[in-house]
Amino acid sequence: MTHAQHIRLRFAGGLRLFLAARHRRSGGTGMSHDGTSTLGHVIQSLGVPLTEVGGLTVRGPGESAGRRVTPAYRPRDAEVADVAGVPRPQPVPAPGPPRFVLDVHLGALARRLRLVGLDTAYGNDAADDALLAQANAERRVLLTQDRGLLLRRSLWLGAYVRGDRPDDQLLDVLDRFAPPLEPWRRCMACNGTLSPVAKSEVAPLLRPGTRRTYDSFVRCRSCSRVYWRGAHSDRLERLVAAAREAALARTGTAGGEGTGGAENGAGANGSHPGTRSEPGRDPGSDPEQA
Ligand SMILES: [Zn+2]
Repeated sequence: MTHAQHIRLRFAGGLRLFLAARHRRSGGTGMSHDGTSTLGHVIQSLGVPLTEVGGLTVRGPGESAGRRVTPAYRPRDAEVADVAGVPRPQPVPAPGPPRFVLDVHLGALARRLRLVGLDTAYGNDAADDALLAQANAERRVLLTQDRGLLLRRSLWLGAYVRGDRPDDQLLDVLDRFAPPLEPWRRCMACNGTLSPVAKSEVAPLLRPGTRRTYDSFVRCRSCSRVYWRGAHSDRLERLVAAAREAALARTGTAGGEGTGGAENGAGANGSHPGTRSEPGRDPGSDPEQA
């Protein structure tokens, strides 16, 4: 015997952008249910990746309080399910601070994440399957604006990035995962770590103006790019300041932010990248160009 069942889903505000336009305003939708599909399946069929879903609460007719359920729950006739977004900050079940891998469209965000010291894998030609494999193998959170990637069952952990502008995307990721910040400790170009280097070692690579003006340098251990705090780094300094302010606003304290020591340890806050291979090039100080 088959009996048409009907259930209702209500989505928290932060999830409504994933819904079809006709459901967005109310955040809710009633739908028929086959009696066997899981709640997780139903949610994803409406376009909402489970990576974005936090608590699930179900209430049947006559029940005064909701019950917490998992995505594997099979809704029963006439039940109402409330779907919450992921908590912020969202814990990442991996040792150490969260690490990331970004899809090919988020290169500008990748450079910003590295700027504030986060371990960020990015390649501008990585195929979807390769991204998933790297995320799973290295326990990196896959950041993307491609819902199709987040709906892939094999993905261990992913996140949809909010915002159109890379600066907004950066703040969204920092707000979501609250990672410890270590500005100027990672190479924006290749994700390698930066370490102090003597001026005499890099002097031949510098343009005369730079050589005259700056004394503290750091170099990428992976690609040998040299960084120093340049006169044109205002934009990067503002980005770092905005990231720190966001962290402060979230925690109400500077603790755990990794300020001070990170900068002092690096010896210099580089932002004006030059390369060994192109010593004559006027290096850009904007992460868009890095
Ligand atoms: Zn590098």
